[in-house]
Amino acid sequence: MTNANAYPASQSIRTIGILGGGQLGMMLAEAALPLGYRCIFLEDTPDCPASLYGKVYSTQQLDDFISAADVFTLEFENTPVETVEHLTKLSNEGNKQGMFPPVQALAVAQDRLKEKALFNELDIATVPFLAVSSKDELKDACAQLGLPLVLKTSRGGYDGKGQFVLKSTSDIDAAWADLGGAVTGDNDLVPHPAPLIAEGFIHFSREVSIIAGRAQDGTVRCYDLVENHHHHGILAKTQAPAVGASHLLATAKDAISTLMAHLDYVGIMALELFVSKDDDGKETILANEIAPRVHNSGHWSIEGAVTSQFENHIRAVVGLPLGDTDNVHPSVMINILGQYPNVADTLAIDGTHYHSYHKEERADRKIGHITLMPPDVADLDKALSALVKVLPNKVGLDK
Ligand code: AMP
Repeated sequence: MTNANAYPASQSIRTIGILGGGQLGMMLAEAALPLGYRCIFLEDTPDCPASLYGKVYSTQQLDDFISAADVFTLEFENTPVETVEHLTKLSNEGNKQGMFPPVQALAVAQDRLKEKALFNELDIATVPFLAVSSKDELKDACAQLGLPLVLKTSRGGYDGKGQFVLKSTSDIDAAWADLGGAVTGDNDLVPHPAPLIAEGFIHFSREVSIIAGRAQDGTVRCYDLVENHHHHGILAKTQAPAVGASHLLATAKDAISTLMAHLDYVGIMALELFVSKDDDGKETILANEIAPRVHNSGHWSIEGAVTSQFENHIRAVVGLPLGDTDNVHPSVMINILGQYPNVADTLAIDGTHYHSYHKEERADRKIGHITLMPPDVADLDKALSALVKVLPNKVGLDK
């Protein structure tokens, strides 16, 4: 496929090996091409979205995948740590340029208990939480943290799966029946037996996230805070920037910069945050989780920022300087869930940018996104109402 003479002789990195081949891999490859790089993917679904942009290797072909790439990154954070350690070891032995982000970031992101403990160690505020390894410990957690309480698998959950909200102590049996198998190893959602995490339930006023990139020389560039609306744990809508949140930006930037420096991070990271009000009505932020990769709440940046999260991730991975993260225009990003809208009807609304992931329609599955950036910002609400009308699936868009 690649003509060996198609690169400048001085370019030592030509092929980026990406773990995972979903839509995030596809959008990374889209950003890599104009910079002069090709991507290949490690993924067991041969016709995955990223296959439109580069060769897909199955996990059985890990060693071939490693030989074919010059540098490595990921788009799927549940890649087993052992695979990434193996890849890091082999790539250090060969003539490779490394794995970014480093494996320790992945290990933290895959374990909610480790993750929240690290936040607190670095003075980043979180909801109160406890490890739970038995039904008795769950009873203790209810007594200590109060009700309602959110019980989550510490590993393996995603998009709101592997969670149970206990409203009263009479829910303890049902919660344990649902998630206790994660502790004993008898639950499909988790890769290894591990304690659960019990978190105090927070009545947050909104959910926001911050995305930042860290280059190989340690330079950090942060995007603006964005506001996220979920439906059953799946992101439905992102507003960029979050309105009226500039007073929270410095704390969020500080938190993500501290985390990235601590983890010796390279690439894009997302930090999801709850905004809560204290007794005096003052807003504060509490860290919920990190994603050690490009993130759905940053898709708006393809059109809405000077440099997209995808381009900045590629720049970091290959050792280039990061680009400007400023907003060029306020925008709203809507996920296409389950069923595609009519493209012509969508594009008839001024300022829409349509992104299909070329995935089959399936109930509530993320199969694309639309970014709304009408020429006049004052038209954003009107454009959003028009868009909601043409979407077959409107879940999560009532707010
Ligand atoms: P997570 O998998 O941790 O991102 O949780 C999925 C969604 O559940 C979040 O986006 C919140 O809307 C909600 N949630 C998670 N943890 C809590 C909590 N401790 N208190 C209240 N809501 C929560």
